[in-house]
Amino acid sequence: MTTSMPATPRLPKAAAPISRTVADARARYDSGATRPLAARVRSLHALRAMLTENEPAFEAALWSDLHKSPAEAQVTEIGVTIAEINHTLRHLRRWARPRRGPVPLALLPGRARLVPEPLGVVLVMSAWNYPVQVLLNPLAGVLAAGNTAVLKPSELAPATSALVARLVPRYFPDGAVGVVEGGVPETTELLREHFDHIVFTGSGTVGRIVMRAAAENLTPVTLELGGKSPVWIDDDAGLRAAARRLAWAKFTNAGQTCVAPDYVMTTPDRVPALVDALRDAIEDLWGTDPRASERYGRIVNERQFDRLVGLLDGVEVVAGGEHDRGERYVAPTVVTVPGGGRGDAARPVVGPDAAVPVLREEIFGPILPIVPVASAEEAVRVINGWDKPLALYVFTSSARTRRLFEQRTSSGAVVHDAALVHVAVPGLPFGGVGASGMGAYHGAYSLRTFSHLKPVLSKPLRPDTLRLVQPPFAERGLRLTRALMRSGR
Ligand code: NAD
Repeated sequence: MTTSMPATPRLPKAAAPISRTVADARARYDSGATRPLAARVRSLHALRAMLTENEPAFEAALWSDLHKSPAEAQVTEIGVTIAEINHTLRHLRRWARPRRGPVPLALLPGRARLVPEPLGVVLVMSAWNYPVQVLLNPLAGVLAAGNTAVLKPSELAPATSALVARLVPRYFPDGAVGVVEGGVPETTELLREHFDHIVFTGSGTVGRIVMRAAAENLTPVTLELGGKSPVWIDDDAGLRAAARRLAWAKFTNAGQTCVAPDYVMTTPDRVPALVDALRDAIEDLWGTDPRASERYGRIVNERQFDRLVGLLDGVEVVAGGEHDRGERYVAPTVVTVPGGGRGDAARPVVGPDAAVPVLREEIFGPILPIVPVASAEEAVRVINGWDKPLALYVFTSSARTRRLFEQRTSSGAVVHDAALVHVAVPGLPFGGVGASGMGAYHGAYSLRTFSHLKPVLSKPLRPDTLRLVQPPFAERGLRLTRALMRSGR
């Protein structure tokens, strides 16, 4: 009897140990090769080529991870990242140039410059909901500033994570960008390494873990977090147009967007018309059966699906509401909250102690509660009753009401008469405030975030004007110096 040798299983190529990936990025940074402007431009070209030469692969990965249609993938992931790269390429020479700094009269003659220098090795940790954009958009800024990077894609978008891990070594063979895949154990190990900056996109809970780990090495962090982004709908002029923009912003990517409108406030008499307009808008955008639409997304996993279904407790579903665990489908759903969410007068409308689950936490899914409030001032009180949100959307034709929200609330951004689109403006900083995050990036703000603005002061030895502030002090000289120093010029 002959026994045949069992076939050797084909194992995937083993990933480099985490410490090696970080060490490679460090060695590349230390070589100085990523600092010159020409090298930064080359890196940005490589990043753009990685996207443009593999568009079908990125579209397929996003479909597999999130049922994201190719059109939506183009608009919200690939296109917006390419736009960021192009914008950066267009302006980088100017942004990277040293700037003159002012020298006070008392220190003349002298020359002051502000020289942007890279920070070193930057860790970019991303969320799963926009797994291309929130990973590669910060990377563009990191590379533009002359750093090297280690990417940690989200394990919850596994197809995109695997694609990035496969492509990065091809487009960055010099080791300037490394990839570490994995979940909590890998992230925990990664966070023990020393980085010069960490940019993290995700929840406040993990944001705290990241910040704690960063503190061990005094590493600065940029935290791109989430929260409950409110909407105020004021007058019903333009209600249909507003509802369409709102429905699009809320239900794109099945509501799994950090800046998605989380809850809508309006006065009680406007609720029925708003519900009707939202129903029509949903039908316009995704048809009568969104489940059958190629353009409507799915919930990322069963855990998130179960959490979302739990949020339907205690509310009245006025549109949608259908859900199917097997498909991880939750219909675009509009709900109303009995009594505007006020169980008793002392209870906050929004926040961990709110009366219904849907108002207690960031929804991060396709459920839109409408909360009737008495007035715009009352809406301001609701917003100020809890954490500062990542975005605030105000639909009104009144300049006074706009000012009310701009001046009396605090949020990462305010958008009037639209939602979501501020993220696609590379000239605006993107980031939160308070619990919705710290630091910002995009365009020139990425350069600022991922560089150190180093003051360089040159004070010629002759004439030696510093003698004026050195002992022994001559009475006349001292008087002159005192006057010059206090002049503030
Ligand atoms: P998350 O914070 O749950 O996870 C982010 C990553 O952290 C995970 O991929 C995982 O690798 C790692 N992680 C999880 N638990 C960890 C632990 N105990 N120790 C170490 N690492 C750990 O976030 P998420 O579910 O990927 O994303 C959802 C959140 O992200 C939402 O709150 C959303 O608003 C926010 N978000 C913000 C932005 C933004 O730009 N501001 C963009 C997208 C998403």
